[in-house]
Amino acid sequence: MNNLSSVITYDNKFFWDAAKNKNLTFQKCKKCGHVIWPPSNICPMCYSKDITTITSKGRGKIYSFAVFRVPFHESVKENIPYVLAVVELEEGPMVVSNVVNCSPENLECGSKVKLTWETIGDLNIFKFEPA
Ligand SMILES: [Zn+2]
Repeated sequence: MNNLSSVITYDNKFFWDAAKNKNLTFQKCKKCGHVIWPPSNICPMCYSKDITTITSKGRGKIYSFAVFRVPFHESVKENIPYVLAVVELEEGPMVVSNVVNCSPENLECGSKVKLTWETIGDLNIFKFEPA
């Protein structure tokens, strides 16, 4: 497996540091309360740089999803079929990830999901499974 450490930047280091302990973290604007995703050094809503970090409870629901039945790359062919979803977390952010440990036929928009983790190389990657 490839080393994915090259995805870590100054702006998202807090996220990957927390992920080492399987904590899903987001930045939250102290001025307007917006929960920021993807990581940024400035609030996209009010442009404040007064930002704190929160840990997600890891609960949300599927906003939209697709079931991949044809691998677009050799590296994912063992995972077919797999689910790529937009998950709306209780804290507000909409994140793109996989829904695993499920039968794709049983998923629908609005299905409740909870956080789970997969370790790839030296990184923990957040995923979701049915709640
Ligand atoms: Zn703000």
